[in-house]
Order: sequence, then C-alpha cells, then structure tokens
Amino acid sequence: MVLEQERGQIVEYCRRLPSDGLVVATSGNISARSGDMVAVTPSGVDYEQLTADLVGVYRLDGAPVEARLAPTTELPMHLAVYRQTRAQAIVHTHSTAATAVSTLLDELPPIHYLIAMFGGPVRVARYATYGTDELAAETVEALGARTGCILGNHGTVTIGATLGEAYTRAVYLEWLCDVWLRASAVGRPRVLTPAELEQVRVKLSTYGTSRPHGEAGD
Ligand SMILES: [Zn+2]
Repeated sequence: MVLEQERGQIVEYCRRLPSDGLVVATSGNISARSGDMVAVTPSGVDYEQLTADLVGVYRLDGAPVEARLAPTTELPMHLAVYRQTRAQAIVHTHSTAATAVSTLLDELPPIHYLIAMFGGPVRVARYATYGTDELAAETVEALGARTGCILGNHGTVTIGATLGEAYTRAVYLEWLCDVWLRASAVGRPRVLTPAELEQVRVKLSTYGTSRPHGEAGD
C-alpha cells in the first residue's frame, strides 16, 4: 500500500474531527502529500468506518494511484493548493464559528496574537460552488503566503508542513473565530497593531528557543 503512513495519519485525525467540533457528519476532508502523490479522504464515508485502505492516493494531476472509492468532491481544491503552495498537509472543515464568520467578514482581524501563526489576518475567499475549479482558485488566492483561510459561506482551509500542524491550525482558527463572534456580539473588538503582530511573528519564528505562550501545552 503506497503512502501507508500518510493514510494511517489521515484516519487518526479524521476520527478526532467530530469530537474536536470541526465538522458536522461527514463534511470536511483531510489530505497529506508525499512527493508527487496525495492521500485524501474519500467522499461521504462515516469517519468511524474509515480505514487506511479506504483513503485514496492520487497524483498531483488528479490521476488515481490507489483508490477504492470516489475521492472527496474537494479533490480539485486540495490538488490546487499543493501545486501552488509549500503545503504538505491540508485540513478542510465546516467548523461552526468559522463558518459563521465566513458569512460576515472579508478578513478575520488580529483580535489575538495567535493569529500570527497564520502569517497575519485570515482572509475570507470569495464564495464559489463546492467541488469546482473556481473554489480551488479562490482558495489559493485567499491563502497566498498564509497558512490558513476561510471559505466564504462554506468553512475553512488550513495547511502545514505536517498533518499535525495543519490540524492544530484548524483548531486554533475555529477558536479565533469563536472569540471574534463572542466579542463582536457585545461590542467592537480592539485589534492588535501591525507592530504588535510583528513582535509575535519574530517570537514564533524562534519557536523552540522561546516557546510561544498558548502553544504546545501552555
Ligand atoms: Zn466543504
């Protein structure tokens, strides 16, 4: 079985999606890249029933390598992001707070310093029909050099050098959106200045020598 490790990891993280509040039913999807191959969740399989051999493997051009089931309808989006960014893993969710924010904003403002882990304020991609090349293009544009974006009236996409990193960012993006919604419900949230964000970016870039508060168990 090709990409056995990546397929196993995808199953492991998929099982966490519902209890982490990141998806509803079978919505959302996860992929991981190795070389010019991508392992990605199949379409419409209950996460409880998912096994590594049901996770399909495709080439970057979409040609199937090992795939027993149809891939997620968002395969074009995953492949487009891999072709145009340095992502090694992608997590796509319909998490509630982020989806609510996706109907209200063009960009999630820097309401908390942890937004620096995305490279700055998180942009909201223009709405496009799910599963289309148009949505794939809007996602790539909204991501730019960032590590996450929100999809207009749809959900989220986060990327990482590992699946663990992409998944952790999905959890933080949902939390940031929840904080914004709660704060905005009672007032006008104060936002961090570019200088304040830059200081955090520098600290995060020296991760390991000065561990950021709020990560890795803080
Ligand atoms: Zn979706």
